[in-house]
Amino acid sequence: MKLTLLGSGGDSPTPMPTCDCRVCGPARERGRPHARLGNSTFVHDANAVVDAPESLWAMLNRADVRDVDYVFLSHHHVDHVGGLRVVQAIGRPEFPVADWDNVDPATVVMSETTYDRLDESLDLESEYDEMGYAEFEFLSDGETMALGNGVGVTGIGAPLEPDGPADAAMGYLFEQGGSSALISPDETTLLDCSKLPDDLDLWVRECGLFRETGAGEPILTDELWAETSERQTTFEQTVAQVRRVGPDRAILTEIEEIYRRRPDEYAKLAREYDDLNLAFGRDGMDVEV
Ligand SMILES: [Zn+2]
Ligand SMILES: [Zn+2]
Repeated sequence: MKLTLLGSGGDSPTPMPTCDCRVCGPARERGRPHARLGNSTFVHDANAVVDAPESLWAMLNRADVRDVDYVFLSHHHVDHVGGLRVVQAIGRPEFPVADWDNVDPATVVMSETTYDRLDESLDLESEYDEMGYAEFEFLSDGETMALGNGVGVTGIGAPLEPDGPADAAMGYLFEQGGSSALISPDETTLLDCSKLPDDLDLWVRECGLFRETGAGEPILTDELWAETSERQTTFEQTVAQVRRVGPDRAILTEIEEIYRRRPDEYAKLAREYDDLNLAFGRDGMDVEV
């Protein structure tokens, strides 16, 4: 199974418009690996994209992706769905256009909870369904669906808040032949790791929040850190979850500009966790499982 990290950023891209900080400067001058667009991963054998940040239009072109059959959405937050309108481009009718419906529309897959939340914010029914731009399918926690080329995908749900629905944030476990790759783009704070297979080959997952920048400055005040780290996964929690699950390889994504860390600093940090075979992702990174 081959995967490509279309983008390894998070809530916002690097460089950030108007910012001249220690990571935005080199990102603007030199591009990748300093530059990062939104969090999205492509699974080649299934022509499947996991998550649709605003930059997905540009990332699909940059990675020369010519066919998308599926778009999987992890949760409803705008940095993961703001580029869903890209489905308009997939399977468009031939000229002369007799009907605006896409001939071969992509299938957009998500949990029922995410659909309900997005139906309000993105107006899925009238802006997508009725326009013929996409088809929608639900995948529930623990359910498996078959894709092309012998690839199967299983939804692994987690709540976004302690008493919330168990399918509010979905990770997607792709399996083909004997290999497996779990993609959990974000929101793993309340993930029950005992639901994960114990022989996982690859885990692509959020890297989590850092306390300090690469230059050792605190990113948030003590007060805001206390409040934020209660709801958001920290890097320490990510390391603990990777240690517990023990995949053969872990690749971290959702790398935020505010961490103010450069690629060489991430590489150095990863070397401290050699026993976990952990790496920080970069835009355009290809991974074979
Ligand atoms: Zn910056
Ligand atoms: Zn989120």
